[in-house]
Amino acid sequence: MEKLPIKLLLIEDDEEDYLLLKKLLLKIPNARYELLWESSYTSGLTRMLEAQHDLCLLDYLLGAQNGIELVKDARNQGYGHPIILLTGINQEDIDIQALQAGADDYIAKEQMQAGLLHRIIRYAIERKKAEHEREKLLSEQISSRELQRRRNEFIAMVVHELRTPLTSLKGYTQLLRKKFVIAGDTPTEQVAGRMETQINKLTGLISDFQDIIRIEGGKLQFYEGDFSFDALIDEIVEDIQLTTQKQRLIREGKTNKTLWGDHMRIGQVITNLLTNAIKYAPDADRIIIETTSDADSVTLRVQDFGPGIPKELQKKIFDSFYRLEEAEQQATPGLGLGLYIAAEIIKGQQGQIWVESEEGKGATFCFTLPLDRKQPVSLPETMVSDLR
Ligand code: ADP
Repeated sequence: MEKLPIKLLLIEDDEEDYLLLKKLLLKIPNARYELLWESSYTSGLTRMLEAQHDLCLLDYLLGAQNGIELVKDARNQGYGHPIILLTGINQEDIDIQALQAGADDYIAKEQMQAGLLHRIIRYAIERKKAEHEREKLLSEQISSRELQRRRNEFIAMVVHELRTPLTSLKGYTQLLRKKFVIAGDTPTEQVAGRMETQINKLTGLISDFQDIIRIEGGKLQFYEGDFSFDALIDEIVEDIQLTTQKQRLIREGKTNKTLWGDHMRIGQVITNLLTNAIKYAPDADRIIIETTSDADSVTLRVQDFGPGIPKELQKKIFDSFYRLEEAEQQATPGLGLGLYIAAEIIKGQQGQIWVESEEGKGATFCFTLPLDRKQPVSLPETMVSDLR
């Protein structure tokens, strides 16, 4: 297919120069040019804004007016094509002015040869194209960031609006439950108990969403202090044991170590690993929770005897919203957020998290936390947000 000609708009008050340029363009081999011509500032500007060409060649001297003013005028009115200013040989100082006004290049009329002109035109068109591409990409990035920000703001608002009535609902349910206990109405007390369990599940989901928003916004905060690693695990194991009769939580090992970190967040990770072990190994009768330590770190291992996780998916399960596709796992409620949040927390506490598993032989989720954590220098919030 034959290539379309490159359309040039020449704004030039001297007809002879127009004819000269026309001839020059015909001398360029392997290129087809179509030359449009306007002879005044006003008609030139109108034609520029119609934008039915690829590049504008503009004479510096346009009667009483000058080309630089026209460059500024056209750019102010949104003209986006490349502009090359045609200058006289003795008008050297206007090159910078032309570029500052928005021209892409300049060429002295007396030096115009076919080859040079062809190269300058091609480069100016290509540069402009690349510039437009960059601008487009940037504006797409900005609008996608803006969309993301608005989406997060919306989720944050919904989550907040959901949390408030849920907190009241939980309070009322606990109150009812107590009343039924006092009245000796055991069946109704059990119903209230189930209501509370469901409310707790909803509250858990909402907390996960809040964490995701914080992580995405780089605002997951840690409230750190000293705590006993063993005591934290014992306490959580005891609480979680109350939620299952089938699986025995077997606690092995002791570290006797005091850690520096956010014990609530680390507790959240342990709870997640234990509830997953219960959830995804419903037919097993035990879960082993083992802790070990060395001079530099403590390690927790939560071993279940469920279906396990195929090797190739062991990294993926730490991604947000990732769930294994096996039917039995899909049938288990969950959104695929827990392990992602757990990994972010452990990373934030300078530790490591991973899973060891062979399909069909259960899974062992492990994390290590360092003992001699360098306490972070606390920076003012403004600096922290600059760093993000
Ligand atoms: P959720 O449990 O809400 O789906 P998680 O992020 O905690 O989300 O887990 C992600 C996925 O990893 C789960 O959907 C499940 O497929 C798999 N998984 C997690 N823990 C186990 C486990 N102990 N045994 C087998 N698969 C697991």
